[in-house]
Amino acid sequence: PHPPQREPESALPVSKSIFQKIIDREIPAKLAHEDDLCIAIHDISPQAPVHVLVIPKKLIPRVNEATAADQATLGHLLLTAAALAKKLGVAETGYRLVINNGRDGGESVPHLHVHLLGQRPLAWPPG
Ligand code: ADP
Repeated sequence: PHPPQREPESALPVSKSIFQKIIDREIPAKLAHEDDLCIAIHDISPQAPVHVLVIPKKLIPRVNEATAADQATLGHLLLTAAALAKKLGVAETGYRLVINNGRDGGESVPHLHVHLLGQRPLAWPPG
């Protein structure tokens, strides 16, 4: 008889990301919004007077790893960011949404998140 099939060790997550720990309430964060699909927190190192991160509860490492099954979640992140921009008072003056993907994109936390930046003029092109 064959032994029961098990996931190879390499398929298991190495460790929880900082955002997973925040979602699981293991470390604190300043919450701007929460619903079934996402949370939004104020960035710990804000790059603008308004700097919020909209984070799916499902672990999608980066947009490059998203699939068609994530379509509703991805749409929800943008609609939530737009709603937060209104709530935080930057919808009229304007704001920027950013998703950093991979090394050259400047991604540092491997759990997809949308940056909402506003309340100051933002230069273009970005660095
Ligand atoms: P980058 O660090 O280059 O912006 P990311 O796009 O991966 O790369 O963004 C991660 C963001 O998470 C950063 O803006 C960082 O300040 C923020 N961050 C890291 N740890 C925390 C935390 N504990 N609470 C809130 N924001 C955090």
